[in-house]
Amino acid sequence: MIKFLDLQKINAQYKEELVNISNQIINSGWYILGESVKKFEQQFADYCGTKYCIGVANGLDALVLILRAYIELGRLKKGDEVLVPANTYIATILAISENGLTPILVEPDEITFNIDLSQIEKVISSQTKAIIPVHLYGQAVDMTTLGQIASKYDLLVIEDAAQAHGACHEGKRCGNLGDAAGFSFYPGKNLGALGDGGAITTNDTALAHMVRVLRNYGSKEKYHNQVIGYNSRLDELQAGFLSIKLSSLDKDTSQRRKIAKRYSTEIKNPLISLPMWKDDDSHVFHLYVIKTQNRNHLQEYLNKKGIQTVIHYPIPPHKQQAYAKWNNLSYPVTEKIHQEVLSIPISPVLDNQDVTKIIEAINAYNG
Ligand SMILES: *Cc1c(COP(=O)(O)O)cnc(C)c1O
Repeated sequence: MIKFLDLQKINAQYKEELVNISNQIINSGWYILGESVKKFEQQFADYCGTKYCIGVANGLDALVLILRAYIELGRLKKGDEVLVPANTYIATILAISENGLTPILVEPDEITFNIDLSQIEKVISSQTKAIIPVHLYGQAVDMTTLGQIASKYDLLVIEDAAQAHGACHEGKRCGNLGDAAGFSFYPGKNLGALGDGGAITTNDTALAHMVRVLRNYGSKEKYHNQVIGYNSRLDELQAGFLSIKLSSLDKDTSQRRKIAKRYSTEIKNPLISLPMWKDDDSHVFHLYVIKTQNRNHLQEYLNKKGIQTVIHYPIPPHKQQAYAKWNNLSYPVTEKIHQEVLSIPISPVLDNQDVTKIIEAINAYNG
C-alpha cells in the first residue's frame, strides 16, 4: 500500500536529532516557555520575514488569538463580519465564531480553490471589518489584489497559512502578506511537530504583545492578569522538534514541487482535471488535489490498486451540523468542489517509483 502520508518515514529522517533535543529538554527541567520556544519563534519569524512570531498550542488557537487580540485592541468588536472562503477547513470559520464575530462565506475560484477575489466586494457591508484568506492546499492567494480591496474598505487581513509554510506571493512569504497570520504545525502539515503546535506571525507590535499576553492567561507578569486570557502555548519539546525540521523545509518543498511537476506532466486522462498554479514560488503543495466527476469511484479504484487517497474535504462547512443555520444556503462552486476533489499522495518521502505507480494507475482509469 502506498500511504497517503507516511509520517513515520518523515520523522525517521530526523530520529537522532529529535532524540538528542528531547534528552536536552528533559534534562533541562524547563518545559514551558523557555529557550526552545524563544529560539524557534526567532527562526520562524526570520523564515517568514516578519518582525514577530508567537508560538501557540495549535493552528486553530493561532487564528482565535489573533481575532481575540484585535477585539482587545479595539480593532474588532462582537458582531463584526469577517469574510472567509466557503470551502476552507472548518477551523478558519470556528475561530471567527468562537470570538462572537460573524463569518461571511465567500465562494472560491474553481481553478485555484482559493477565495474568489471577484466575489469579495459583493458581500462587503458596513459591518465587514476583516477578511481571512486561506492559502488552500499550499497555494498563495493573490494578496496584491486582495490587499487592494482590503485597504479600500479598511479591512484587517488575517492569513490562514496553516497549509502554506514557505509559499510566496511576489517574493514575500505567506505569514508576511497581511496584518497577521496563523500557522499550524499539526504533524501532517508541511512543517509538522510530533504533536500539536501553532504560531502567529505579524509585523504589528501591539498585536504581538497582546497575543503573547493572551496565550499565557492574559498575564505579562506571573500572577498579574491584564485581560481574560487562555492557556495556549507551544511547548518546549515541540519547539525543539520544529527547529530541527524547519532547516529542511525548503528542501522538502522542492521535493513536493518535483512530484507535483511529474503529476502535472505525466497524468493524462480526460476524466481527471489537474490543479493549476501560477509560478514555482507560489505553491508548496501541502496537497495535490485532482478533480473528477465520479470521485468516490476513483478513490475506490485507487485503493484497490494499493494507493491511499484522502478527500479534503467531504462536507463543506455550511453543510455541517455545527452550522445548521447555514444548511439551506447554496454555495454551488463550493459544493461542486467538495463532490469532485481527491488528494493523491505527495510528500518529501514519497519515492519516484511510487509516483510512477500512481501516475500509471490514474492514466489507466477509465471510469
Ligand atoms: C490544519 C488547519 C487549521 C487548524 O490547525 P490545527 O493545528 O489542526 O488546529 C486551520 N486552517 C487550515 C486551513 C488548516 O489546514
